[in-house]
Parts: sequence; structure tokens; C-alpha cells
Amino acid sequence: MSMNIDVATPKRTRDIINKYGFSFKKSLGQNFLIDQNILRKIVSAAELDETKGALEIGPGIGALTQQLAQTAARVTAVEIDDRLIPILSDIFADTKNIHVEHGDVLKLDLKALMERQFAGLSGVSVVANLPYYVTTPILMKLLEEKLPLEHIVVMIQKEVAERMAAKPGGKEYGSLSVAVQYYCETELVCIVPHTVFIPQPNVDSAVIKLSVRKQPPVDVEDEDHYFRTVQACFAQRRKTIANNLTAYVGKANRDQLAPLLEKIGIDPSRRGETLSLQEFANLSKALIAAGF
Ligand code: SAM
Repeated sequence: MSMNIDVATPKRTRDIINKYGFSFKKSLGQNFLIDQNILRKIVSAAELDETKGALEIGPGIGALTQQLAQTAARVTAVEIDDRLIPILSDIFADTKNIHVEHGDVLKLDLKALMERQFAGLSGVSVVANLPYYVTTPILMKLLEEKLPLEHIVVMIQKEVAERMAAKPGGKEYGSLSVAVQYYCETELVCIVPHTVFIPQPNVDSAVIKLSVRKQPPVDVEDEDHYFRTVQACFAQRRKTIANNLTAYVGKANRDQLAPLLEKIGIDPSRRGETLSLQEFANLSKALIAAGF
């Protein structure tokens, strides 16, 4: 018998878990949301309406899925855990605008899935309470594959959210901040206490909203090179750019670095964490021009 219910309260969550004999797998980052207010905040940040689609990653027992289906035209939810597939089919047997895709989001062809599921809609956003053990690979996959997304609104570990939104000059700013901000505008929506999950995670959480840019904020000659340059400058955080870049260009070429940096107005004794996206772009261009 289908069970069309409000899944986001502690009691309902426990009822479903008991009914299906479900046990949480820590290795899959299974921390289910049990708080309607947080769910509402996540959905509202995604700016969905009846013309838009939502791609959810990791529906669990469908707490967020259900809210999304009430707001968006269509929801496609990718779930890796085969034990959850029949549970979701049962819970959503009478809900027509939800499609559950069984698979590992890191392995799926998301572009093809989006084309199949969201044809004709006015926009699609990713909305999810992500499994924390794979947050960065999932987000980098969404961004690097340049999927046609409007927003990415995700619950993630607070510390990772702060790194993504960090501005130059602080200790949180690093290659993840540069990568995310190259593709998106970032907004920290709210900090979330661990009491809104079953089971409760050991870390604090936050909801972050990434609005995907139509154009990168800086002009870059070669994206791969740009990101290699960024990685190189953050290779050892406590080292200066000159020292980190020596490892990158090779010791034999180290004498070329000071004049190259001087030409683009970057003091060689600065650290990577002080460079803006624009300065990394200038640096990457100068390195390409010098043959590195
Ligand atoms: N959305 C639900 C909620 O908020 O209550 C569950 C969120 S739980 C933090 C993460 C979910 O992602 C789990 O259902 C887990 O099985 C699923 N998951 C973990 N790794 C995954 C992967 N590589 N691909 C797809 N789903 C995954």
C-alpha cells in the first residue's frame, strides 16, 4: 500500500524507518532532515515555480523531495542506495511529478539526464541535502560540466560552505573559493544546528546558494591553466607565491618569476590567500606568455 505522508517530522521519519526496516549507512552520508522550517528555507532559496525543474541529489526518504514537488514542475532525484528505491516508489506512488533515478551522481551523465527529464521547462536548479563525504566532488562535477543550471542550493558542512563563500585575505580562502566563485555568485543562506537531522552529524551544517554565472567574472585565456595556477599558488599555504611558483615552473626557471610578478603588479612575497580572481587571471596569462 502506498504511504503518501508528510515525511519531514521526527515521528514520520521514525515511522518510515520502522515500517521499512531501514538502517542508516554512515558511509553514504545518510543524515535525514526532520525540520519543516529548514526545508522551507532551502526550497524558497532555490526560487522555483511551476515552470521550473529541481534536480535533487540524495533524496533519502524524500523529505526535501516532497517539498520540491509541491513547488516545482518536476523533480528528478538521484539516489545511490538501492534499499531506498522501493521505499521512495512507495511513498511517492501517487505523486506524478517525481522521478527517482537510481545511481551514483558522480558516475551519471547528468547532462543527458537533465535533457530527458526537464525538456521544455524554463530553468532547472539543483536542490539537495548533500552527502558530506562527497560534497566537493559533486559540486565540482556540476560546475565543471557546465550544466545548464540556474541555482545550486545545498546543505553542506558549515566549514566547507564558509570556504566556498570566502573572500581573499582570510584563512578560509583557497582554491575551492576561487573555483566556486569563478562559476557562481555565492550566498550563505543559513547556519543549521545538527539537531535538525536524524541521525545527528558530528559537524555543523550550512545552506549555501550558488547562482550560476552566465559569464565568468574574469577574462581567462585557458581555464585549465588558470586552475593549475591557482592550485600551484595554494600548494603550500604558508609559502609565498614566489616559492610555490618555483615548484611549478621548475628551479632552473626561478629567476624569471620576480620580473614576471613585478610586471603584473604582484609582490612575490604575498601568499596565495591574498590574490583575487582577477590577479590569478593576470598571473595565469603572464605564465602562459612566458611559456609556462
Ligand atoms: N535528502 C534527504 C534528506 O534531506 O533527508 C537525505 C539526505 S542525506 C544527507 C544524503 C543522501 O545522499 C542519502 O540518501 C544517500 O544515500 C545519498 N547518496 C550518498 N552518496 C550518493 C551518491 N554518490 N549519489 C547519489 N546519492 C548519494
